[in-house]
Amino acid sequence: MRVGIPKEIKAQEYRVGLAPAGVRELVAHGHEVLVERGAGEGIGMADATYGAVGARLMPDAASLFAEAQLVVKVKEPQPEECDYLSPGQLLFTYLHLAAAPALTQALCASGASCIAYETVTAPDGSLPLLAPMSEVAGRMAVQAGAFYLEKPQQGMGVLLGGVPGVPPAEVLILGGGVVGSHAAMIACGMGARVRVLDRNLTVLRRLWRQFGNQLETEFATAEAVERHCLTADLVIGSVLVPGAATPRLVSRELVGRMRPGAVLVDVAIDQGGCFATSRPTTHGDPVFLVERVLHYCVTNMPGAVPRTSTFALNHATLPFVLALAAQGLGALRRDPYLAAGLNIHGGQITHAGVADSLGAAY
Ligand code: NAD
Repeated sequence: MRVGIPKEIKAQEYRVGLAPAGVRELVAHGHEVLVERGAGEGIGMADATYGAVGARLMPDAASLFAEAQLVVKVKEPQPEECDYLSPGQLLFTYLHLAAAPALTQALCASGASCIAYETVTAPDGSLPLLAPMSEVAGRMAVQAGAFYLEKPQQGMGVLLGGVPGVPPAEVLILGGGVVGSHAAMIACGMGARVRVLDRNLTVLRRLWRQFGNQLETEFATAEAVERHCLTADLVIGSVLVPGAATPRLVSRELVGRMRPGAVLVDVAIDQGGCFATSRPTTHGDPVFLVERVLHYCVTNMPGAVPRTSTFALNHATLPFVLALAAQGLGALRRDPYLAAGLNIHGGQITHAGVADSLGAAY
């Protein structure tokens, strides 16, 4: 099959659908890979590196889309990319259509078959193509929190790990899933005093097995959230209720009683956020103060580390890309978990959740 890797054109997106290592595997399996010139620039991968592993370099997106049978991207197609898609073509990328009626309409009109990373499932119901970005965001959350606790950044001026004779900072993590457990790992590693709250006992038991006495776990009652927020230096919001808006665990009133200069990192902001005072921010302008508490609410945290994020994403997507390249849509008939990723086919929405969210026919 001819597989196309265009350059991402969404603002501030530096990742790429496949790094050269993935291209090399496709070529080794007998596929032809078309890569748009400059596609790997954002992760420091030159055109020559792609050329060396057997990619055919394309001058622009229009010519790449015209030839590719399978297009592998990172972000949802922008309007001009939708115009390039054609009937029967396969598109494999993040789509997040549930909140994007215009994009859904454009993709239906294109006649392409669109498979969304975020709805591909694993046998246990987890989302294997979302998890790598949660791992990145969880680890970054502590890094960002530690930075913004510094006085020149408007934080309270504490060092996460303390020093001999001075106690470490208190880190409270709300939600101990993928983001929360990776945040816990980094916070423990930096010597902070770490506490994770979750409402799922299986999650708390897993953390207990993983970390032992390095951190404290506690069931996430409203009372526990309040008690620990009042003494925390850094609070990381990482709760998720699949298919629903993030529960608001921390009220504005509670934020008002927190320690001045404390930092809130609301990783769950992409689903609405778990602090009542949160609003989405960007890497260009990541923080704001409410009630003297610093909020960091960047919706695409992994975008700041595109090299790590691209490699992590590629490791999760590559087996599916290989299957699609080998079998086309037949790969979906053989793999129901990949089939769960099909959002649009034959001009119709083919995913119940997307159709329900948009109030569309299914
Ligand atoms: P996950 O499903 O692995 O973990 C969520 C956890 O929240 C679960 O353990 C669940 O039991 C817990 N939870 C649910 N309701 C709770 C409540 N009321 N109180 C306490 N815990 C509760 O999800 P994840 O992969 O860790 O993702 C967490 C959030 O981070 C999601 O909203 C995801 O979209 C977001 N995210 C954001 C970025 C970003 O750049 N901002 C990047 C990646 C992920």
